[in-house]
Parts: sequence; structure tokens; C-alpha cells
Amino acid sequence: MSLLKNNGSSKDNYTFIVPENVAFIRFTIMTSNSNILKAYYNFTNLNNIQDFKLNDLQLNFNINLNNFMKKSAKTPLISWVDDDCNYEGIANVKNICDELNIKCTFACVTSGISSTNEDIPNAGLNNSDLKNRLLDYQNLGFHITSHSNHHAKIWQSTDETYSPTECEKDLITSLNMLRENGFLDYDFFIAPFGTHNTEIQEIAKRWTKALFSSSGGLNHLNGNGRYNINRLFIQSSNSLESYKNYINNCFENGDWLVLGTHSGTPSEFDSNLVKQVFQYAQSKNINIQPLNVAWKIRNYIYNLYEMF
Ligand SMILES: [Zn+2]
Repeated sequence: MSLLKNNGSSKDNYTFIVPENVAFIRFTIMTSNSNILKAYYNFTNLNNIQDFKLNDLQLNFNINLNNFMKKSAKTPLISWVDDDCNYEGIANVKNICDELNIKCTFACVTSGISSTNEDIPNAGLNNSDLKNRLLDYQNLGFHITSHSNHHAKIWQSTDETYSPTECEKDLITSLNMLRENGFLDYDFFIAPFGTHNTEIQEIAKRWTKALFSSSGGLNHLNGNGRYNINRLFIQSSNSLESYKNYINNCFENGDWLVLGTHSGTPSEFDSNLVKQVFQYAQSKNINIQPLNVAWKIRNYIYNLYEMF
């Protein structure tokens, strides 16, 4: 049954009959000059029959989507990602999480859990110690995801060894390593050096759900899209007040604030500051979740925007 009928007044005027209980419809329409219109329409508050002109379709639908997003997509949310998976560092992070009763994401450089012992970040340790510690944390509700396999300079776009081909191999190795060792939800990619140029975004699109950069700032609605999600580092060189401002804005605008730390770098990791930042977020009653849980809350915003 065709739901779209030319209503006879002109070749561009159509009547669309909306089935019962349908809130959204996605259109793909080939016009007479072969333009393809894609649009998404919110039928809330409308009668079940809607007349429209093809030329106005996209504009009207964009306005309706934007209105819907402004009203509905307000979900203040905070996540914490600790980078690199240093054996001692992640224990400090877990202690803070336990004290505050929150969970975070650990971004793992997977050569650190490799059985070939080629590890750099945890030199001197048996890699299975790190792997087992991370698996224990996962069992307690923490999230472990990929931060590449080697964190090598091939990921740094300004370095002479930068190579998208090698990056893709490195990412695939990392994802396989996490899967084979029993980790779940490992395909949220924390890009080494925060690299998020077009080539790296394309690679991330092929293998992962999302890419997180190290560009500071909040994520408002779909922001730069799911393959360029901002992350703000908590560093002792910044004041608590500056983080409180971000959290206030997150709360007021319904944004997603993804915070980052390097727990393996003592000069950068100030556990008091980190604790105070999250305590302030808790005082505002903002939901704090690891990336895999935050994604379930936030993913629909990216899905909606990508339908155009
Ligand atoms: Zn890193």
C-alpha cells in the first residue's frame, strides 16, 4: 500500500497518510530531476494526514527535527575515561570510584595485556597481572575499551611514521586482543594522541562504535558526530573552578562531558582534584557512567542526526 499520494493539485503536491501510532517517518524521495530528498518527520501533534510540497519537505523536516532535539535531547551526563592502563594507576582510579560509588572506563593499550610480553607501559610486570586486574574490574561493572595496541607514533598525524594503513592493523589487533581475552564493549575507540583526522575517523567507522578525541569541551547534541567526541582532561595545571564551570554548563545545556585522566603519569594525576571534580558533579545530581552505559543513553542522538 502506498502511503504517499499525489493529491492532484500539482505534480509537486502530495498527501501523506500516516499509519496509526507512528511518531516518526523517514522519507527517501527521488524527484523528477533525480534529486534524492532524505527527511525525517515528527508527526506528534499533527493529524494523521499531512499535505506537503516536495520543495519544502527538507526544510520543514529539518525544523521539526531540531525542535524535537531541543526539547528531548537534554540528558546531562558525565563519563570518566582513564588512559593507557598503568597497573598501579588503575588501582588508584578504582579507589576513587569506590569511594564515590561510580564506575569508569579504562582505555587499554593492549600490548600491555599481550601474552608475548612486548609490553611498554607496564615494564617489569607480568602482563597477565594487568589483564587479570582489568577482568576483575570488568566483573565489578567497570568498562575496558581500546586505546590502540601499541600507542605508537604511527597514530600521530604530524609524525614521519604516521601511517593510516598501519593504524588500521594496530586497531584491529587491539580489538581482537580484547575480545579474545574476555573483554566486552571494547569497541569505543580512545584515539592515541587524540588523533581524529578524516583518515582515522574513517578507520574508526569501519571497526568501532565511536571515536573520542582529546579536544577539550562539552558534547552538545550530536556535536561533531560520533567519530569526533570531545574529551576534557583533568590536569593539576587547571583549577577546580574551571571544571566546575564545565559541569555547570553540562547540567544547564544537557550535554555529555567526557573527562579524561592519565593515572600512570603522577605529575598529571592529582587524585584530590579528580575526586573533587566528580564530587561536584554528584552534588548537581548528574548521572556519571562509563562509556558503554553512557552510550545507551546518548546513542539515539547520533542516530537521529545521521538519518539525513
Ligand atoms: Zn594515551
